[in-house]
Amino acid sequence: MPAPILSRRDLDFLLYDWLDAESLTVRDRFAEHSRATFDAVLDLSADLATEHFQPHNKKADAHEPRINADGRVEIIPDVKAALDLFARTELIAAGFDESLGGMQLPVTVLRASMAWFQGANAGTSAYPFLTMANASLLTAHGSDEQIATFVPAMLEGRFFGTMCLSEPQAGSSLADITTRAVSQDDGSYRLTGSKMWISGGDHELSENIVHLVLARIPGSPAGVKGISLFIVPKTLVGKDGLLGERNDVALVGLNHKMGNRGTVNTLLNFGDGSFTPEGQAGAVGHLLGEPNKGLSYMFHMMNEARIGVGFLATSLGYAGYLQSLDYARTRTQGRALGAKDPSSPPVPLIEHADVRRMLLAQKSYVEGALALGLYCSKLVDEQNTAADVDARARAGLLLDVLTPVAKSWPSQWCLHANDLAIQVLGGYGYAREFDVEQLYRDNRLNPIHEGTHGIQGLDLLGRKVIMQGGAGLALLGKTIGATAARAMEAGGEAAQHATLLSAAVMRVGATTAALWSPGDPEVALANSSVYLEAVGHVVIAWIWLEQLLAVGDRAGDFFDGKRAAARYFFRVELPRTGPQFDLLDSLDRTTLDAQPGWF
Ligand SMILES: Cc1cc2nc3c(=O)[nH]c(=O)nc-3n(C[C@H](O)[C@H](O)[C@H](O)COP(=O)(O)OP(=O)(O)OC[C@H]3O[C@@H](n4cnc5c(N)ncnc54)[C@H](O)[C@@H]3O)c2cc1C
Repeated sequence: MPAPILSRRDLDFLLYDWLDAESLTVRDRFAEHSRATFDAVLDLSADLATEHFQPHNKKADAHEPRINADGRVEIIPDVKAALDLFARTELIAAGFDESLGGMQLPVTVLRASMAWFQGANAGTSAYPFLTMANASLLTAHGSDEQIATFVPAMLEGRFFGTMCLSEPQAGSSLADITTRAVSQDDGSYRLTGSKMWISGGDHELSENIVHLVLARIPGSPAGVKGISLFIVPKTLVGKDGLLGERNDVALVGLNHKMGNRGTVNTLLNFGDGSFTPEGQAGAVGHLLGEPNKGLSYMFHMMNEARIGVGFLATSLGYAGYLQSLDYARTRTQGRALGAKDPSSPPVPLIEHADVRRMLLAQKSYVEGALALGLYCSKLVDEQNTAADVDARARAGLLLDVLTPVAKSWPSQWCLHANDLAIQVLGGYGYAREFDVEQLYRDNRLNPIHEGTHGIQGLDLLGRKVIMQGGAGLALLGKTIGATAARAMEAGGEAAQHATLLSAAVMRVGATTAALWSPGDPEVALANSSVYLEAVGHVVIAWIWLEQLLAVGDRAGDFFDGKRAAARYFFRVELPRTGPQFDLLDSLDRTTLDAQPGWF
């Protein structure tokens, strides 16, 4: 029996009972779709992930990519076999326009289907996901010629894509990148510089690799206002679409990681003279869009990329939860507290309340995070396709304020779910024979990339909740308030939760005002990670109340499980925010005043 990855029952509940994904099919863009086509993609994804991605997950972890004697990157063949199959099923193109060969699948359904692959094998699934993000950015900002040259080849899986932002000296602070791009007489550019941490940066899995590279054109303004974006293929592509000379992009080395080992991670040199395309050193690049707008193009994609990281964290947490649940049902150990007879048979682990505590905590984290990710994905669909302009703008605003939470909350709490999954398995959880330790290691990346946890806190408190005079935060409060009002009307346990939620939302508003009222950003932002975590818990409490309302009065284990997880979240998790808000309200200076010399 393959290890469980995700719950189709839960996905169906969230997509259809709660978010009414089927209603999207009235929109022109999704008119060809129906519940049947959504289900077909979900079924296909579940099968492919289970049969072709999960089986080599451990092998790819144990045999990480390496550089051969001939300088090529060697990756276990199972990875290419799975990716070729993924490409043949046309899933890379699923969300793209029909004119590009895509299916125009709503983001809501696309994300749900991709979660199967992320939970099955984070390492292998990163290649097509990077390619989709790259192709999406190219489609949004590239010229017709650029789109025609690169996008169809990427959607067919012949070319893979990368995102080259980070440099050895510039990670969180992209203002400090130094890669240079010098314009040439023929309209192209030559790039020189080093890019660090580039996932999928070099390999033989595809015919070509399309790097999207942030660089500065000499004479551009300093800081983020002087950053441009370039298309830099590993191998040059002629106007006829045929592959030409090798570009001057050289693999310097591989990074050896704690987890996510199946995705090759590279240090690349652009333009160091290792290759001389058209007889000259320098990596040939093509400007994407206008000069100096590179970071804004990247940020255009950032909401989706960050939600994608949230999904990766969620999927890994979800797989660990289900695997620890299976284990707790089958492993016997100890007896009930009241059992007096030592010769009575031991009970399954799940009979112990403390084990159920760990399972309930995991369930509340992973199902809460999955629901938030799908809610945000639906906002992307609303932003892109809602009938009226106001509805689109509202969806965009809510998405802006929720994105740091959708990225960071699963990255923190679904990682914690993996920690609890290991604990449920005891010593076996710590052993490599079982999967949960790898899930934990793979998941540990997610609070780091696509903007660290700290950067998300600065983004939420320093930008998102104060932008447009606090309009995003006000809209979030109003949206949560509407849920609470429905819950009060429903009465019973939902109303009890709604009272707690309303009080917590009041605290978010009051604390935000208290932090900003002195007008000192240094003080306001000193504890921005604490703010991010407190707001995150309030948001997930809201999402649990939403789920509870969707459950209604239906009977059965699945619905009782949802009720129990919601109860757990409101009783055990939401109260954690009280001391966090107290600390923030006091404008605590402990971290601000701690001097580097004191450590
Ligand atoms: C496995 C892996 C894959 C990656 N893939 C890619 C990729 O494909 N493409 C790409 O471009 N990059 C990629 N990255 C890079 C990733 O985005 C960076 O690691 C990340 O942006 C952080 O940068 P850094 O590692 O230089 O850490 P730093 O920026 O040095 O940060 C270190 C610590 O300091 C904190 N910090 C930094 N600045 C501030 C500040 N102003 N205020 C408060 N705290 C701060 C951070 O929160 C963090 O905790 C990848 C990284 C990893 C590990």
